Amino acid sequence: MTDDCIFCSIVAGDIPSRTVYESEDVLAFLDANPLAPGHTLVIPKTHHERLNDLGDGLAGEVLGTLNALVPVVENAADAPASTVAFNNGPEAGQEVPHVHGHIVPRFEDDGGGPIHAVAGARPDLSEEELDDIAERIRNGN
Ligand code: AMP
Ligand code: ZN
Repeated sequence: MTDDCIFCSIVAGDIPSRTVYESEDVLAFLDANPLAPGHTLVIPKTHHERLNDLGDGLAGEVLGTLNALVPVVENAADAPASTVAFNNGPEAGQEVPHVHGHIVPRFEDDGGGPIHAVAGARPDLSEEELDDIAERIRNGN
């Protein structure tokens, strides 16, 4: 629990939410400023800023809950698709520093874009640069 974290306050019951699912470790509730009907957030109940700050067990709980809720949310919103995503860090647009996965129901011609639209200009990477980044990821450095 972090006092000035809005999502910790929701977990504590100090701020109301439209909870749609709760387990021992995970909470899911409607986004207060929805991008679509049924826009849902899935959070760990304990305070961690980023997805990569979660231990394997909790990450599994959060991702498993997202996976289970996606068809339920789509069905409730009568949506044929959804965008499921994390803004992981402020430079990626994360405004609430308590890790949360978004489920945004999507509709044909809803005016939105694909995940590919979130980044700026695409880099023009050479074969060497592609080999280098693949090597770094493989080696974890
Ligand atoms: P992000 O930009 O990924 O950090 O998204 C934060 C999300 O939290 C936004 O979509 C907000 O609309 C949502 N949000 C902020 N405050 C609340 C709240 N009290 N209850 C529900 N959702 C909230
Ligand atoms: Zn928090």
